[in-house]
Amino acid sequence: MIDLHTHTTASDGTFSPAKLVHLAKDEGLQAVAITDHDTIAGNAEALTIGREIGIEVVPGVEISADSPFGSIHIVGLLIDTEDEKMESILTELREYRYKRNVKMIDLLVGMGIPITMEELVVISGGDLVGRPHFAALLVSKGVVSSYQEAFNKYLKAGGKAYLDKKRLPVNEAILMIKNSGGIPILAHPYVLRIKDEENIEANIEYLVELGIEGIEVFYSEHSRGDEALFADLARRHSLLVSGGTDFHGDVKPGVSLGRGHGNLNIPYYLLESIKEMVA
Ligand code: AMP
Ligand code: FE
Ligand code: FE
Ligand code: ZN
Repeated sequence: MIDLHTHTTASDGTFSPAKLVHLAKDEGLQAVAITDHDTIAGNAEALTIGREIGIEVVPGVEISADSPFGSIHIVGLLIDTEDEKMESILTELREYRYKRNVKMIDLLVGMGIPITMEELVVISGGDLVGRPHFAALLVSKGVVSSYQEAFNKYLKAGGKAYLDKKRLPVNEAILMIKNSGGIPILAHPYVLRIKDEENIEANIEYLVELGIEGIEVFYSEHSRGDEALFADLARRHSLLVSGGTDFHGDVKPGVSLGRGHGNLNIPYYLLESIKEMVA
């Protein structure tokens, strides 16, 4: 079993890269990919620990991208973690994120909710602050009683303190991953099904034309029907099949590493096919 979609403290997960790799080993996984939002900073530590304790770590990243059919996420697997061009693009994305966060803090302070960037950085346990850290801070200050209430009232799109962040055009996200030797994969495609089921095949064809090479068939929030739908689309469009849980640790307590909500079982041979593509 494997898990090709996870987040660490380098972005908005709550497990450090080292702890996550240890957990993967303890859970009996053969491989785990680190796919933090907008950063590859967690990969080096994870790769080192993976070699030490004997579990395959796949270097990765997850990019939020703009498409004609809205915001989508692209997971990049087997990327070159030394790629300077990618690092400079990611640095720019993190700068936009930082500016968005400053404005969101201002909005909350303006509503009489005193929070600071320093507090958010402490909660994040890393270099990248995201909305989950805002949510955790609002809970710890007693402003809301739950993580989900923080999103519903303040942080989700349309919430009182929500601000959009600048995203890469999807063609650039795909190109950046390919240029670094990686495989671009459409993450959690059920989101596309929910938004516009009628056009799902046309939208996937659009991404195939831009060079997407894989699709997450196995995902924590996918029903059996989703798995069948996306497996069929993958076959008909010659896409690699990937799978991951989107493990975030304690901020998504229902999602376990490798298992999702309990019954995911992602076979190692999927990673073998992905590796053959880069070989
Ligand atoms: P950001 O990258 O700062 O825009 O934050 C995005 C992250 O917030 C996602 O990766 C999820 O972990 C989390 N998130 C986004 N929307 C929601 C929501 N409605 N409820 C709970 N968590 C969410
Ligand atoms: Fe996240
Ligand atoms: Fe995502
Ligand atoms: Zn994710």
